[in-house]
Amino acid sequence: MSPNALASYLKETAKLKRTLPSENKKLEKAIQKAFGRVYRAVALDVDGTITEPATSNLSTEMVLIISRLLQKGIPVILISGRGRTSLRAAANQVRRESKISDWYLRRLQCVCYNGLIRLYTKTSKPDKFLELEDFLFNTSSEQQQVLEEYKAQNEKYIAKFSSKIGYLRIRADVDGLVELVPRSLVELSEKLSRLSGNESWFISRSLYEGQFWWTLTPKDKSHALEKIAKRLGLPPSTILRIGDSGGENGNDESILNCDSGFSVGSVSEIHDGCLPIFSRSGEHLQGAKGTQWIISTVKIFPPLSLQAENPESIEKRIADLTGFEKLVTARSRIEAKIIDAEIDGKHRSLLPTGARLRADGTSLRE
Ligand SMILES: [Mg+2]
Repeated sequence: MSPNALASYLKETAKLKRTLPSENKKLEKAIQKAFGRVYRAVALDVDGTITEPATSNLSTEMVLIISRLLQKGIPVILISGRGRTSLRAAANQVRRESKISDWYLRRLQCVCYNGLIRLYTKTSKPDKFLELEDFLFNTSSEQQQVLEEYKAQNEKYIAKFSSKIGYLRIRADVDGLVELVPRSLVELSEKLSRLSGNESWFISRSLYEGQFWWTLTPKDKSHALEKIAKRLGLPPSTILRIGDSGGENGNDESILNCDSGFSVGSVSEIHDGCLPIFSRSGEHLQGAKGTQWIISTVKIFPPLSLQAENPESIEKRIADLTGFEKLVTARSRIEAKIIDAEIDGKHRSLLPTGARLRADGTSLRE
């Protein structure tokens, strides 16, 4: 980013985040890091981030951008408050409309219910697209009982519910109070937290099909993203994160509040993360338009090294590479034999000395 572009971006961002002049240095540093870093993977919220305005369909441009990232070898993670069926529908839209092969699509994975279940494809079975599920949290029987009791008392408000994974979604305007977290939900989360050894449960707000929702979950999106970063062998900061609900209680707040996080909707007031998006002309870009701009502006390259915070992940990758190396060596021997057999006897003398040997070391003259 040029010094002029940085100065105007800093000015607009500080205005939007209501940053005090004394905090500008921190903000400037975060902006430099966010735009200067090389990203190795991309995590995208779905609704309001890559969808057409007020619909649940992905924008045509975003389908194209995601498919290009996958073809370049860059892992893409769709991370959403959606359940399995509607998140698979979004991923299937990418599969159907991009027409890229399943081989590339293996790099697409999904996290649903704000971080509770991961959907992925087995590397060796690319045609079984996103058929595997990884439960990232399971509730205890006491927690399930508390959730079932709440459901029985508030049935008419509940839109989606699973006591097994600890997920509950209600309309945000149930009592005509969109901004306030319903009292009963706060009490429920406190009760469940006490049963989790005082580990907080998360109440977050999101926008889906033009409607606001409150969700209660035992974990948030950042918990899932950290696990995925370890599996990919990447430092979490190298995953570019884009979402639209970065403000207070937003369901993207936990993943955007760092200097790899950009919001194409509401922003938090923290000074070292959750950055808004402005075009070169200073227009505040929101939704899929903002997402496209940021992906085409920052540096994103496929993961190259075996650097990982999790030693198990390095071991697994080394084992995979060793297996691949064995296959390649065997293939190379077969190909060398085929070439040997095809060389006419009278031309063998033209080959360099070393090449007069077969792959198994015996002489071609024999
Ligand atoms: Mg969203």
